Amino acid sequence: MSDERLVIAKDRVVSVHYAIHNADGVLVESNRDDEPLLTLQGRGVLLGALEQALEGRAAGDTVSVALNPEQAFGERREDFVQRLSKKYLQNAARLKPGMQTTLQTKDGPRTVTVLKVGGKVVDVDLNHPLAGLALNFDLEVVDVRAATAEELAHGHAHGAGGHHH
Ligand code: ZN
Repeated sequence: MSDERLVIAKDRVVSVHYAIHNADGVLVESNRDDEPLLTLQGRGVLLGALEQALEGRAAGDTVSVALNPEQAFGERREDFVQRLSKKYLQNAARLKPGMQTTLQTKDGPRTVTVLKVGGKVVDVDLNHPLAGLALNFDLEVVDVRAATAEELAHGHAHGAGGHHH
């Protein structure tokens, strides 16, 4: 059982449902129909501006946050285009311009957008798909609980919606 009175503070595990809309009110992403996202507050799992908005809230609270591109996923960089050998891309044979695919980097998986497909190489845009956009986040706090010693040591939350090992 979770303690209903717990408020969000550093190193507490927070379950959130979120919906993200762009400046035109178009839904960009939502996990409302899925398991809530499990995050460890204050560890940079969420964007900093979202962690700030959640601080002190409790289960059942809803929070709306408007972020400018810099607070969200950064400004677009027009020079952020790279030509890659197809062998570094998943499903390279099926890629078409405009599609998104995942690139394994030393910092973990990264979503890139395909610009051009050649015989052996693919031009990809490394900008985050949401870079350059002002975004409105609607957050609903589903649960707040204390983190386990193991979660604190790992720096992330465990369980459904969180990290799996
Ligand atoms: Zn872990």
